[in-house]
Amino acid sequence: MQPDLARLNVNLASAQASATYKIMDRVAARRAAGARIISLSAGEPDFDTPAHVCDAAIEAIRAGHTRYTQVAGMRPLREAIAAKFQGENGLDVGWQDTIVCTGGKQVIYNALSATLNAGDEVIVPAPYWVSYPEMVQLSGAVPVIVSCGADVGFKLTPDALARAITPRTRWLILNSPSNPTGAVYTRDELAALAEVLLDHPHVLVLSDDIYEHLTFDSAGFHTIAAVAPRLASRTLTMNGVSKAYAMTGWRIGFGTGPRWLLEAMEKVQGQQTSGASSISQHAALAALNGPKDFIRGSRAVFKERRNLMVSMLNETPGLACPVPAGAFYAFASCGGILGRRTAAGTLLATDEDVAGALLDEANVAVVHGSAFGLGPYIRIAYALDTESLRQACQAIRQFCLSLKD
Ligand code: PLP
Repeated sequence: MQPDLARLNVNLASAQASATYKIMDRVAARRAAGARIISLSAGEPDFDTPAHVCDAAIEAIRAGHTRYTQVAGMRPLREAIAAKFQGENGLDVGWQDTIVCTGGKQVIYNALSATLNAGDEVIVPAPYWVSYPEMVQLSGAVPVIVSCGADVGFKLTPDALARAITPRTRWLILNSPSNPTGAVYTRDELAALAEVLLDHPHVLVLSDDIYEHLTFDSAGFHTIAAVAPRLASRTLTMNGVSKAYAMTGWRIGFGTGPRWLLEAMEKVQGQQTSGASSISQHAALAALNGPKDFIRGSRAVFKERRNLMVSMLNETPGLACPVPAGAFYAFASCGGILGRRTAAGTLLATDEDVAGALLDEANVAVVHGSAFGLGPYIRIAYALDTESLRQACQAIRQFCLSLKD
């Protein structure tokens, strides 16, 4: 091979492959070798897509809706998205103020790649969803990680935000409810962050609301462009059907923001994918315009599972799990077992060692917190049936009880 044939784009060369996908690959390899693994690593609901949504997709195929749509998405879906943003979020949005992309991920990617230049900075509160820093880097910009520990509920504070902003700051990324911690920002917390942002008109805000419908107890959902309407002209509010309607494989996300930004994102998308799948757009239309009982039902199921997980994890010596207010993740500290050895003799020096040993020795897959920018933690996705969750927690407890000094 020519010496420089495999030379990569410089931005890609420094990016990491998704840690969650890497673990899913390891699980697949162990399963292929015959192991029975309970995987708490995947970030997707275990429910089936609602039947009326699947029917709408089949009907779309039969009706011949199998061609390219407009790059920014077909108009009826964009109208439904505008109605969703108005009705559920209180945003003043017309259909022209929306864009449909191939998953929520591509909304974010389009926005970042359309706006970032070398040396620009993007503030990413940690723990963060694994893809944010990598997407920033792929765009040639610099992720500025702001650590937000358990002492601040894993949430960005106004002081920490103010300290992180520089003249080079281009974006702040907010994610509530959060992957990986399940933390949910209150209206007052968002208003306090908005106060800081109002002093810095050069900063754009990306609000990742993909877990909007999964909030529990008294934690209501709020989005910053509605809490602080003066920020709306520089906020991209992103959402999608993946988590709310158990539609991860359909790949439909959407967003609303200032027209100049949406036009730039459309330009990127027009050269990249030409737009989201026509069939999936029809399915998403049925989801947004259809009954909402699926959302209520899945929220109730996730809340029960959360309660089970948190209590079982907190009964496990060495683990400590704060109660997450949303999403379907528990983020448990494993600091209490670091420095110890497993029954098979593996030294647990880091949370990555813990996740690796849990997979190898307890047959339970979780993701280490440091992959999300904060250790020593493990992220546990409770998107599985109750019996499997119970068995997984028992296996984790047994693993911890069998550790040696
Ligand atoms: N944002 C967060 C915080 C996520 O956890 C995910 C998926 O895991 C996404 C965005 C991407 O969603 P989608 O599957 O619609 O691309």
